[in-house]
This record gives sequence, structure tokens and C-alpha cells, in this order.
Amino acid sequence: MQKRTTTFVTLPIAALAAASIGIVLASLVIGAREADAIALSRQRETIEHAIDQHGLSLARELRIQTVWTEAYNKTREHDTSWIRSFYGIYLSQILGYDRIYVLASDDTPVFGFVPSDQSASSSFASIGGGLKDLLKAVRVPQSMPADYNVVVTDVPLGNGSMLQHRAVADVRSIRGRPATVVVSTIVPDRGYRSDVTEPPMLLVAVEDIDKEFTRRLGANFGFRDLQWVTHETPAGDASNVVKSLDGAPVGTLAWRKDRPGLEFIRRVAPGLGISLILIAALTYILILWGKWQAKQILQSEEHATLAARTDALTGLPNRVALREAFARLLDGIQGDKSTLGVLSIDIDQFKSINDAFGNAVGDGVLIAVARRLQSLVGAGGIVARPDGDSFVMLVPGLDDKAAAELATDALTALAEPFDLDGGTRVFATVSVGYAIGPRDGDTGDELLRRAELAVEKAKEEAGETVVAFAPEMDAEVTYRRMLEMALRSAVAEGSINVFYQPLMDASGRRVLGVEALARWTDPTLGPISPEIFIPLAEETGLIQNIGEHVLRRAVEDGKAWPGINVAVNVSASQIHHGDVVGVVRDVLGDSQFPAERLEIEITESVLLADEKRANEQMRGLQALGVKVALDDFGTGYSGLQYLRRFGFDKLKIDRSFIDGAGEPLDSSVILASIIKLGQDLDLTITAEGVETVEQQRWLQTSGCDQLQGYLFSRPLPADQMTAFIAAHTAKDAIAS
Ligand code: C2E
Ligand code: CA
Ligand code: CA
Repeated sequence: MQKRTTTFVTLPIAALAAASIGIVLASLVIGAREADAIALSRQRETIEHAIDQHGLSLARELRIQTVWTEAYNKTREHDTSWIRSFYGIYLSQILGYDRIYVLASDDTPVFGFVPSDQSASSSFASIGGGLKDLLKAVRVPQSMPADYNVVVTDVPLGNGSMLQHRAVADVRSIRGRPATVVVSTIVPDRGYRSDVTEPPMLLVAVEDIDKEFTRRLGANFGFRDLQWVTHETPAGDASNVVKSLDGAPVGTLAWRKDRPGLEFIRRVAPGLGISLILIAALTYILILWGKWQAKQILQSEEHATLAARTDALTGLPNRVALREAFARLLDGIQGDKSTLGVLSIDIDQFKSINDAFGNAVGDGVLIAVARRLQSLVGAGGIVARPDGDSFVMLVPGLDDKAAAELATDALTALAEPFDLDGGTRVFATVSVGYAIGPRDGDTGDELLRRAELAVEKAKEEAGETVVAFAPEMDAEVTYRRMLEMALRSAVAEGSINVFYQPLMDASGRRVLGVEALARWTDPTLGPISPEIFIPLAEETGLIQNIGEHVLRRAVEDGKAWPGINVAVNVSASQIHHGDVVGVVRDVLGDSQFPAERLEIEITESVLLADEKRANEQMRGLQALGVKVALDDFGTGYSGLQYLRRFGFDKLKIDRSFIDGAGEPLDSSVILASIIKLGQDLDLTITAEGVETVEQQRWLQTSGCDQLQGYLFSRPLPADQMTAFIAAHTAKDAIAS
């Protein structure tokens, strides 16, 4: 994936850079070629123009020799020696012509002069045929095309008549060699008196242009190695086929091709090269940077994904990661006969470790637990910390037996003390619950929930145990939820009832007081024991409502029983999370029930949780004039010191002690000492759960003040209690 992403970044950049460089180079080459082509066509034009101009200048140059009365006369007279001197020798030696001919009016040569070849005086015959058009051009210029460019000069003769002098020049191949040929009429100049009627004589001057002219042309216009070539144009050279006016090729001029474009490239090449290298380097750097960036992004993404799935404290997978692991592992066992063991491990009373040693030590314990659990699972297994003080192990292929073994191993491993930094030694125990997938559930959520149900069960069994999930646990939870809903509506409807159980004097004949006991009968579930719904109410907070409801009902009913005390139970959570003193004050105020006839029963557990607050609340109640009784005495840890430390008015000995009352066993010894202690502390002593006459007698002789139990009466509705009281008033009691 990383590779793909970096390629994704690299390719377009590299392609873009290559394309840009390609475009730059191509433009340069195309531009250079274009420049070269333009330069070449300019050079060709230049050559043609130069040749034309050269011809014209020769034609003009020869005017001095041909507009001349003496020459006119001498040529007409065919004065060969004059012609030789003034045309032949002069023109060849002074002006450098190579051939000179004089033609008569009918174009027949009357004189020929070739300096190197004296015998060539008659050679005009061999070249004259190719010059016919030029001869015609000077004789009848209007019959020729305009490009013949005849130089016409008007010559006034002085007698009023005008003569035209005409000259034409062109480049021709003379015996295979390129040459400029000038044909000029020979006319008299100013002051000539006789009339000119005959067609003029002509001067034909030929100048080879393959040497000197070519050299000068090259020098003047910057053609390098300009030369006439006969056959092939040398490689790398440019050439131009020079043609005469009549269209015949005269020869080919070749020169070293001028390549300004190439030159340009050569000049810019170093700079361009450097900049291309720079661009390439820059591109490379850009690609590297892009790759690095892409990698960074990927890494930070990976890091973020990992962080979102890791528990920061222990480095274990967290709840999110656990869910993903579940999906993966459950997928792996699908169709297979394989299993997935799900172990939920909870540290017992982790809060008290935190409270006792501080959070840093608590964290240390969690980290150490994580390490020990990790060392227990094999390669395919996973240890996660979904939250707080609970850990989860997922181990594929675990059956019931193996899961129980692993759970026991975990118990043993974690039972070893934790020696933390700073020398703190902490002992911790854990509870383990487990479920086996897919038997106990086919989704991760379900398996985890069921393993957690099992661990809750393990905790209920006082910790450090292993419990396997059982389907009943689910049913229990379902039942509990349903019960909670039903209790909520019972509280809302006010359908919680109050029954009363009498507290008799030691003889069991006279009623001294009654204990209010909550009763709940659900329309569909039937009667539910307070042993079940009171703890549920405590957990769900409903106890505040129920408590106040029972209290109000009890004092209202109690008004009908003058002289009889009314005892009401108050739970620990009412003391710690509610305002019991305020509620009792309000209820007493509303009902006008005498405070001294009200007793509040609290259990030892109230004192254990928060001693200070329990003490305050107790004092608050006593300040209202209410009596406070310690209920279920002897069941908790308390021992006797609580009785001294807290100023209770009354002590209710738990029924588990009463069973042994009168029997010659340890329990009656303990019972006797409790009664003795209560007497010493000046407390009213009540014995609960008195079921037999023997028990009553023993308790009576042992010095108990009050007795409560089925022997006298079960808890009764208020009206029946009224009747019971009526039957057990002091007078009747004495009577019976
Ligand atoms: P408790 O306060 O110890 O109440 C006495 C319990 O002993 C009552 O059970 C009563 O029916 C039972 N009992 C009385 N005499 C005998 C006997 O001779 N033999 C036997 N085996 N049992 C006897 P009950 O009514 O089921 O109440 C159970 C507990 O529920 C109470 O124990 C009390 O802790 C709690 N409770 C009941 N009503 C309320 C209430 O309104 N508020 C609070 N906070 N707790 C309540
Ligand atoms: Ca009680
Ligand atoms: Ca009790």
C-alpha cells in the first residue's frame, strides 16, 4: 500500500518533468531548424541578388566604353586595331573581362578577343547561339519579359534627336563555365551630327565569375567556402542552382551551410544544460520529498489507527481493537469445529488498592497484570484491556477444560505479589469468568457479555474464583431487569405495602412495639420477598422512595396504636446518599407522630462504609428525639467496639444467634455475653427470630428486654395488627 501511494506521487511528477524537458528541447530543435531554413533562403536570395547586381553594375560600367562617338565610328569601320586596343586589351587588362566580342548590326561577329586563347577570335560562333535572347533584348527590349531588366540610357545627340543606349547582363554558362555576359549597344555620344538610322553595333563582354567574383561575394556577404561545384554538393553544404534569364541552369554555387539555429543551440546549450540538470535535480528532490511526505502521512495514519486501538496505560488492545479481534477470530473458526475461548479477568477490590496506595501504584498493578496475562496466552491469543480493572483473553481452539485450566493459571499467576517501583508490594486477587464461542454466543458482544456475567458471578462468590458461563446467568439477568421494571412501576403506583411484626416484652405476652416491614406483591409475579427487592431497590436507588413511603405509612398506622413504638428499617444507601434526618423530621412534622415512639433500625454495614457520616446521621436522628437501633447484630465484622463507640439506644441480636438459645453450645455462651454487654452499656436488647417457647424462656431468664419472632406473630397488615395489639395490651397480657 505504501509502495502504491509513493508511485502514485512519483509517476506524475516524473512524467511532468520529462514532458517539460521534452517540450523545451523539441521547441529548441524546431526553432533552430526554422531559423536555419530562413537563413538558407535568405542566403539564396542574397546570392541571386548579388549576381543580378553584379551584372547590372557591369552593364553600367561599360556605358563609358559604348556611349562614345569614336568607338561608334571605329566599330562601324571595323577598325580591328582600334577595337583590339580600346576594347580587347583595355577591357581585359584594366577591367578584367575574359572575352570581348563586337557584333555587327546583323549580329555577325566582327571582332573576338580571348586573352588566353589568341585563336579564339572566331569563337563567338560557339557561344553566340546561347546569347540570342540577350542580343534581342538590347535590340528590341519591348519584345522581352520584364525580368530581362535592360539598362536604358537616353543619349541626347545635340541636334534635337535622342538615342537610346541599352545594355543587358546575365549569367550564362560559357563553355561550361559560369560567366557574366554583358551585351551593350555601341552608340555615339553628345555632339554627333549625322543621323543614326542603322541598328547599332553590339559589344559583348564576358567575365568568368567562378573565381574572383565568387571570392568577393563570399567575403562581402559572409558565405564560407563559396564555390562553384560541378557534381555533388559536399555534405553539410548549402547550394543554389544559378539559372540564366532564359531558365537554363548555369551552375551550382555551394557554400558551407550557415546554421544560426544550430549556433544558437550551441551557445545556449551550456546554460540550458545546467538549467535542465537543475530542473531534473529539483524534480528528483520534489519526488523524494513527495515520497517522504506520503510516507509521513501513512505513518501518522498508521500511528493514529494504532493509537485509537491501544490502551495507553498497558499498551494492550483496547475495546475497539478487541471488537475487531473478535470479528477476525470468529471468522477464523466459522464452519470449522474449532472454538474461541473468551476469558474475562477482573481484579478484586481494585478500588481499594487505588485508595490505599494511590493511583500510580494502581496503574503499576494494571501494567504488571497485563504482562503476566500476556505471558499466559500463546501466539494465536490476544490479551486486551477493554476498560478499568478488567482484562479479556481471546484464545482460539479453547474448549471448556482448557479454558478452565487457563483461568486457573491466571488466578495463580496473579496471586503472586506485585513488587512495584519504589518498593511497594501489593497483593491482589482476581476473579475469572469465561465463555466458549460459538457454543455460548456467535457474536463478540454476546460472548464478551456472557464472560462478564460469569465474572460477576465469580465476584459474588467473594472473589478469587473461576466461573464458567451458564445459560441460567442470562436468565437471571433477564429476570432481574424485568423485576426492576416491575418494582419501578410498583413504587410509582404506591403499591408497596407495609406489614407489622410485634416486639413483645420478655414474657412474650405484651406488645411493646412493632417493626414496619415492606411488602410487595406484583400482579403477575406474585409476592416478592424483601430479601430480593430491597437489595434491588438499594442498587437502583428506588430505596429512597420506598424508605420514605414505608416511614410515612408506619407513623400514620402507628397513630392508631397509642403507647406502642414503631420501628422502621433504614438502608445504608439511605444514610449515605439521602437525607434521612431531613426526611424523618418532615414526616414527624407532617404526621405529628411523637418522635420518642419512633425507632430507626440500621445495620452494621452502614457504619462500615462511612463512619463519620453514619455518626452524624445517627446524632441527627437522636437529636430529633428518635431512637436508633443496631439491627442484625453479630452478622458483620463489627464486634463489640461499635457498640461502645456509637451511642445506640437499642441492640437487635440477629436471629442466627437465637437458633442456639438455650442449647448447651458455644452460641448460647456468645449470646449470653452479648446480652451482658448490652446490659452494661444500658441498651435495650431485642432478640429476633424467636420461634420456640424454649428460646423465649432462655432469653427471658438471660435478661433480654424484647422478643420478636413467629412464636408471637408473623408480620401482619395494619388492621390485623390493631387487633393483635388489642389482644396483647398490658391488661389482657396480665389477664392471660
Ligand atoms: P430485618 O430487619 O431483620 O427484619 C426481620 C425479618 O425477619 C423479617 O423478614 C421478618 O419477617 C423475619 N422474621 C421475623 N420473625 C422471624 C422468625 O421467627 N423466624 C424467621 N425465620 N424469620 C423471622 P422480611 O420481612 O422478609 O424482611 C427481610 C429484611 O428486609 C429485613 O430484615 C430488612 O432488613 C429488610 N426490610 C424489610 N422491610 C424494609 C424496609 O421497609 N426498609 C428497609 N430498609 N429494609 C426493609
Ligand atoms: Ca429490622
Ligand atoms: Ca434484623
